[in-house]
Amino acid sequence: MIARAREPLIFEHSRPGRAARAQWPAASAEDERSAEHIPPALLRRRPAALPELSELDVVRHYTRLSQLNFSIDTHFYPLGSCTMKYNPKACNAAALLPEFLARHPLSPPELSQGFLACVYELQEMLKAITGMRGVALSPLAGAHGEFAGVAMIRAYHRSRGDPTRNEILVPQAAHGTNPATATMCGCVAREIPVDADGDVDLSALRAALGPRTAGIMLTNPSTLGVFERRIEEVARLVHAAGGLLYYDGANLNAILGKVRPGDMGFDVMHVNLHKTFSTPHGGGGPGAGPVGVAQRLLPFLPLPIVGRDGGPASAEGGGESESDDRGESDDRGEGQSVRYRWLDERDLPQSIGRLAGFGGNAGVLLRAYVYLRLLGREGLQRVAEFATLNANYLSARLQQVGYDAAYPRRRASHEFILTLRRQAQELGVTAMDVAKRLLDLGFHAPTTYFPLLISECLLIEPTETESKETLDAFVTAMTRILQEAREDPERLQRAPYTLPVRRLDDVHAARELDLAYRERRPQESSDAAAS
Ligand SMILES: *Cc1c(COP(=O)(O)O)cnc(C)c1O
Repeated sequence: MIARAREPLIFEHSRPGRAARAQWPAASAEDERSAEHIPPALLRRRPAALPELSELDVVRHYTRLSQLNFSIDTHFYPLGSCTMKYNPKACNAAALLPEFLARHPLSPPELSQGFLACVYELQEMLKAITGMRGVALSPLAGAHGEFAGVAMIRAYHRSRGDPTRNEILVPQAAHGTNPATATMCGCVAREIPVDADGDVDLSALRAALGPRTAGIMLTNPSTLGVFERRIEEVARLVHAAGGLLYYDGANLNAILGKVRPGDMGFDVMHVNLHKTFSTPHGGGGPGAGPVGVAQRLLPFLPLPIVGRDGGPASAEGGGESESDDRGESDDRGEGQSVRYRWLDERDLPQSIGRLAGFGGNAGVLLRAYVYLRLLGREGLQRVAEFATLNANYLSARLQQVGYDAAYPRRRASHEFILTLRRQAQELGVTAMDVAKRLLDLGFHAPTTYFPLLISECLLIEPTETESKETLDAFVTAMTRILQEAREDPERLQRAPYTLPVRRLDDVHAARELDLAYRERRPQESSDAAAS
């Protein structure tokens, strides 16, 4: 499976006795003594089988590995829906200020006013952006925010003596996390079809609504890359049936500063700070999926939330937002000077509870805070304008050179879908073949085979920060691929050619994942490496 020029494993660079001594921390006498308390049965009999290398060996090894990868710092990355959007280095630098890094999560609010003020203002800015009345920042991912949202929907129905509502409607095009979340929260997910133009099928929606309806989960623009035009009608129908509307706001780039889920009629939503708001998405790093709610769900928000005692009723972020301080007067003896504090169960007795240690992923929250401060209101609108302009430009150019859009009659949002259905039938070339060949030509592949609704699809999101030159270069590569598909389809079917690995057996890799290193060259092994 692995191509000829395989990168050696770090163990294969190892030479007995080699080390980076300058990097060794000296063991203190105290360290030595504490080791004596470990029961002998638990002590290693031989040293750990670690590779032995010089400092330069290690630096070069990992630098080389990092260059084998595609990354946002090296390549255009149009991976629709879960795109690597703009992650300014400045936001990261500010989030890593030593004062933030060194703050202990249990430090008292008197010593954390700066941090708490940032978190409070982030809550306020997200309220203003989404049109929601309350925001809690602690969920750690998009799916985690969805879990909080559906838990609040259930808590709401229970609090009204209506506990049998357990159906969550999910349009066909939804992200897979939506039905999964509904199921995890003890609800039944019920699929609603979409019509040929990508809008929710209203007659199917009407037929599905009833006394069991807890709510509907949808995103707008949808994962089909189009804006649901009858969203107000959808909201009216669901509300009339007694259900609530959940907005999957994982990707807000198309609507920032333009449309607000709260104004479309949504009651609860999450946003992915690790997509739209300056934390890199992918690679499994930390994320944040804050939730926002309309008035009627305020009592159920997850804790903690940062509240402000004193000062004007609302911060600069949103004219219509209310103070989060809904508690009784402060009897905790924190003193007059404390302005910001964590709200707890005494403030919000009906809360669905705590979903994360402390306040969530502080570094991710701070990056989002700095990003929003950098952009400001006008900057956010520019994000939406350029995200949609770039997507529509790229979609139009790719159709010009011969690709088929899944929804040719619709304008793109921040992303759009091509379908290779015709090429698959006529030339035997699939969406995967195009994706793999793009890697040879220096582009990260778009999202493939999602949404499931469209066969042989590529979901493409150029993002607002790519230049016209980059988009044109992508069109040139896609044009060349289409030409190869016609002239030499077999060449495409075997791509990629230039990467350290070729086509992998995905099933084998997933089912029989093998990450353990086993010694291969015994003549170079030290006694320690044997296992
Ligand atoms: C990414 C995404 C999610 C899930 O977010 P995670 O942080 O990966 O859990 C949900 N919905 C949509 C539309 C997404 O793009």
